[in-house]
Amino acid sequence: MDIVVHPDPRLGQVCRAVQDLFGYNPRVTQIARDLLDAAVANHAIGLAAPQIGYDERIIVVLNRGQWLTMVNPVVVDRCGQCVVREGCVSCPGFQLSVTRARTIRCHWLALDGQLCDAWFSSDEVNHDIVAQCVQHEIDHLDGITLRNTRPT
Ligand SMILES: [Zn+2]
Repeated sequence: MDIVVHPDPRLGQVCRAVQDLFGYNPRVTQIARDLLDAAVANHAIGLAAPQIGYDERIIVVLNRGQWLTMVNPVVVDRCGQCVVREGCVSCPGFQLSVTRARTIRCHWLALDGQLCDAWFSSDEVNHDIVAQCVQHEIDHLDGITLRNTRPT
């Protein structure tokens, strides 16, 4: 599974929402599996569908040691701010300091179509940056990479 890298135009498109996810959908489940494989193979802590060439709103993130798949993720609340230095497997050799919300509340669908609602907070002591990672991956779904993010 090749990673799509900057400046590939597929990284710049706004992905479409997954429709009609009522129970498991083989195609969505396969995309999630491909994302997971590609994330692990590339030592990433998160990955978004456009990074492997799909234009649907699906991401995977490493959340406290467990991989979480999020379909149609949206941030519905946010709290606090922090500056994080981020890299991205789609922008090799490039890093950027970005301002992110410290804590976020998200809504998304699980692979079986169930609506999920949770808060994510980062724990800098344990170098756990899941909240920032989710924001970075949702940016990908909106066609935003570190290469077109305004630096902090
Ligand atoms: Zn990225």
